[in-house]
Amino acid sequence: MENRKIKESDQKVFLSEVEKYLVGSGAPGLVSAWDKLKPFFNDNFEKIFMLGKTSHGKLIEPMDLMKIYELIDSLRGNLELNELLDQIVKIVNKQLGFDVVILSLLNRETGQFEKKAQSGLPEKVFEQASKQKISQTQFNKLLDSEYRVSRSYFIPDGDTNFFEDYGYLSVKPKGADTGDSWHSGDILIIPLYSDKGEIFGFFTVSEPVNGKRLEKHTILMLEIFARQAHKEIENAQDYANVKRELNRFSTLFKVGTLVTESTDIDKTIQEVADIIKDETGVQWVAFFFKDDQSDSLYIKAQSGLDSTRCKGLKLDIGNEGGLVGAAAAAGSFRVSNDLGSYSKNFIKMSDETRSELAVPIKSKRALIGVLYVESSETKAFTQSMIQFFRLVANRFGMACENIEIMEKLENDLTLHTSIYDLGNIVNSILNLDRLLRKSIELMRERFEYWRISIFLFSENRKKLVLRAVTGTDSEEWEPLELEVGKEGIAGIVANTGKFLNIGDVRKFPLFIRGAKGTLSELAVALKRYNEILGVLDIESPKLNHFSDFDVKVAHLFSNQISIAIVNAKLYERERELAIRDGLTGLYNYRHFREQLRKEFDRAKNFGRYFTYLMIDIDGFKKYNDAYGHSAGDEVLQKLSEVLKENSRENIDTVARYGGEEFVIILPEVSKQKGLEIAERYRRNVEAYNFTPTEADKAKPLTISIGVATYPEDGDDQSVIIKKADKALYKAKRRGKNTVGVSE
Ligand code: GH3
Ligand code: MG
Ligand code: MG
Repeated sequence: MENRKIKESDQKVFLSEVEKYLVGSGAPGLVSAWDKLKPFFNDNFEKIFMLGKTSHGKLIEPMDLMKIYELIDSLRGNLELNELLDQIVKIVNKQLGFDVVILSLLNRETGQFEKKAQSGLPEKVFEQASKQKISQTQFNKLLDSEYRVSRSYFIPDGDTNFFEDYGYLSVKPKGADTGDSWHSGDILIIPLYSDKGEIFGFFTVSEPVNGKRLEKHTILMLEIFARQAHKEIENAQDYANVKRELNRFSTLFKVGTLVTESTDIDKTIQEVADIIKDETGVQWVAFFFKDDQSDSLYIKAQSGLDSTRCKGLKLDIGNEGGLVGAAAAAGSFRVSNDLGSYSKNFIKMSDETRSELAVPIKSKRALIGVLYVESSETKAFTQSMIQFFRLVANRFGMACENIEIMEKLENDLTLHTSIYDLGNIVNSILNLDRLLRKSIELMRERFEYWRISIFLFSENRKKLVLRAVTGTDSEEWEPLELEVGKEGIAGIVANTGKFLNIGDVRKFPLFIRGAKGTLSELAVALKRYNEILGVLDIESPKLNHFSDFDVKVAHLFSNQISIAIVNAKLYERERELAIRDGLTGLYNYRHFREQLRKEFDRAKNFGRYFTYLMIDIDGFKKYNDAYGHSAGDEVLQKLSEVLKENSRENIDTVARYGGEEFVIILPEVSKQKGLEIAERYRRNVEAYNFTPTEADKAKPLTISIGVATYPEDGDDQSVIIKKADKALYKAKRRGKNTVGVSE
């Protein structure tokens, strides 16, 4: 390193990037320029220091910039979100010199900013302040206000109507006005922008250690720090999300196995309540069970309250029984996320409660009870939380169901352990085909059946499709479809839902042979509530092989398997929903980023290429103004169809980037080819003519497209995105309805 010299050209690049940053065109160039210079920092820093001033005057020294990059370097790789946020706040506090610092992040599900870390406030005060939240809409009002300084917002003392209601002000009493000194009511807000340019959080700082109102230099330092910190925060947030998901699944798994294993059901329910409370952080969890005599609900177990408070509590099924009674009567969940607006029939157990959720627990036959949770947070029960509690209730219900059935069975050890083992399989596998195969393999192994198959309905429910086989002739089983109600023993069972135990298949007129040598066959419907999902089918090479015991075994297995099918499907659907955009059904931004990353890695590792299209509707605001917002939404939907129809299934990724912007990743497509494809999209959209009235047909709706290709246009994802974006703007400048290409 000693004998390397900083190239003068690199110095120049760095300085010019600093300038660009200062005039507001962003930091990515700065980062790569800095990367080049970094190796020299240790022994050559005076040279860097001498890089001098920018033409904007002495706003910021390169030295200061380097200090910030060093600070950011110290954050890298810390994935524990809370630790990271504390660390960041501490840096602002100690290194950048503010006594009071609060870091807030957007909760995307509630649309509110939540205070996540702080420095300088007593714990109690911060705790109290954390309960006050500012919504995104409220915050946005700041953005065009007169408080703007650089990219931050300085709200002077006495002018705090924006923030005083949200618990952001320092605790010290307000000081007297003395010229340029900092007042205790002053506050500076520095937004955190994501790569997409959205504000996903912000710092508020007050009480600078030097006691002065801020110079532009200090504000810039804070802003540069905030800009660089966002990546670290986003990484840690992603990591926290993944961890939370994993945690939820492990909770579900625990609930399932606990109940399945249980010999003392009351004790188990208590354990389950405790687990749920611990792992979800809600304030109160209660299992209400139905009392069949009085048609009311009583508490079977609870976690979080002094037991005397809820002793003897009985709730009616129906609206008189609060949310719990209402959920029980309706058979579906009831949620109230803002108890201020919910007064009628509201029965809450704690004064702190701000949100409550009631989810019915059902067995195959009837209502078992209600899982009820209260939280002291408003809007605590987001969609994903509700989905989680529904899965818990579902899992709990099916486990209770098994216990019911088990109690009625003779104490057959094989059956007992098999059902237990099956419970584990069902709990741990979410992939449907694997789950089906594993279930019947277990069944065959324990009961020495000759051959077992599972059929499920086709999408239109006209056919019964063979999905899993084990035993004789199962090594390479052939696809088989039966016409429901017309073909095969399984086909009949699928239609009636009643089991068939056929002692001699040769005498059954509609018999269709699966394996050679089958002489008797037992088929049981896979059912959940009243819906038939498919058929579990067992064959034997002996006549009259299946006894009443086999019928029992088959029913018991079919029960468990049915539950598992429903669960696996729920899970699949949930996964699918999570990566789709609600309006258009295209992939959402998040999934697109994930795909881009994968495609990028793939192309990089294998020396391949891909093309990236960025699409924006021309003059869409006018369209909305002319035909209304919902007509605009329809266009977005139809346009999505057009884009999808013109892309390669399972190869191209078509996603909604945001608003009326779309992106398409075209793997293995060169720039030349990409241009042709973009042109085709452009033409097809123009030809589609979205305009609703005949009179307007002369001016069809059009799109502009920006094209960028890896690796020609850059070897970094964000550079490719930027290049496509630039190309798009070029197309717009050239008069729209055209394809722009990155040079
Ligand atoms: P340009 O040709 O320069 O792209 O003009 P434009 O009017 O399309 O401007 P821009 O790309 O900035 O488009 C933003 C407009 O798109 C604002 C809003 O009216 C509309 N828009 C964004 N998202 C939606 C949406 O989800 N539904 C509807 N109906 N309109 C949307
Ligand atoms: Mg746009
Ligand atoms: Mg547009």
